[in-house]
Amino acid sequence: MRRKTKMIHGGITSDEKTGAVSVPIYQVSTYKQPGPGEHTGYEYSRTGNPTRHALEETIAALENGKAGFAFSSGMAAITSVMMLFEAGSHVVMTDDVYGGSYRLATKVLTRYQLGHTFVDTSSPEAVEQAIKPETKAIYVETPTNPLLKITDIKKMAEIAKKHDLLLIVDNTFATPYWQNPIDLGADIVLHSATKYIGGHSDVVSGLVAVNDDKLAEELHFIQNSAGAVLGPQDSWLLLRGIKTLGIRMEAIEKNSAKLVDFLKSHPGVSTIYYPGLPEHKGHDIAASQAEGFGGMISFDVGSAEKADQVLRKTKYFILAESLGAVESLISLPAKMTHASIPQERRAELGITDGLIRISVGIEDSEDLIEDLKQAMED
Ligand SMILES: *Cc1c(COP(=O)(O)O)cnc(C)c1O
Repeated sequence: MRRKTKMIHGGITSDEKTGAVSVPIYQVSTYKQPGPGEHTGYEYSRTGNPTRHALEETIAALENGKAGFAFSSGMAAITSVMMLFEAGSHVVMTDDVYGGSYRLATKVLTRYQLGHTFVDTSSPEAVEQAIKPETKAIYVETPTNPLLKITDIKKMAEIAKKHDLLLIVDNTFATPYWQNPIDLGADIVLHSATKYIGGHSDVVSGLVAVNDDKLAEELHFIQNSAGAVLGPQDSWLLLRGIKTLGIRMEAIEKNSAKLVDFLKSHPGVSTIYYPGLPEHKGHDIAASQAEGFGGMISFDVGSAEKADQVLRKTKYFILAESLGAVESLISLPAKMTHASIPQERRAELGITDGLIRISVGIEDSEDLIEDLKQAMED
């Protein structure tokens, strides 16, 4: 099945019993058993629910894995994956991971003696150097937020294999439409489905896909034991969102290219971060491991004052956290998503006070360009 068809026909996308072409919302917690100790495949909705199951089969199909899991948020998915490791274990992580993942690793998982080392995973040497005897996994995000740094997933898989580690990839930014880490050697791929997979700013959720039966069994055990499952309504919203994931990503890709062209020609913009730009560090790797570059663009307008002006003046770009929706969003990492990082550290990472991040939506590109143009005028 080709990529676009998979969004419509991959996994479970209809109801066998009734022929309904949309999976019904099984709003139910428990299931009648034919006899004590016998069940129909479903006994209690934390353990399994048909609507959630359909979504889980679908994410497994989209990521070319054997099994999928749906969680109540991206962070619930990441937390559950981290529960695979015992106290005393250690994980090597991308240094500019999502802020919530950073907080989880540094402030919560440390309570359970799960260690971490943050490294620039775009450097395979740095990753190898950070590996300790107790290291159990490499955790990678690519592209990253907000500088769109690229990590070579195949290289990471080689290193993981060599040291007998799991490779975990947060594939939120690239989406399963453009990038399939399992095909590149990853063991676990996860998503904040709140973003592109849901795509309509109306559901918070997380998805995981794996390609190994034992790993699948362990993750189901954790999902059922810790219980951070996605409800049937939200599972249905994701199934619905996934049907248009392909065409949304295609539209976002086109709009992003046009916006990058506009930003390049604008005298008030100094640096543009977008993996689709040939001069972007990591462009060649991004082009080789993903079919598209996505809809996240960051650019520098020179000062905090100018950035403040732009964010206040845009009409179509909505000033909000989050990303990956049909509507374009705009944010200022230094004051929003990355505000908790000390300014010095931000400067080291390249997150200046004038750095604006946009999440490109599917509006008419001419309107989006005009909107940015008027917002940047002195
Ligand atoms: C948003 C996000 C998360 C966390 O997901 P939630 O659904 O907000 O819990 C994790 N990773 C990345 C890359 C994200 O953008």
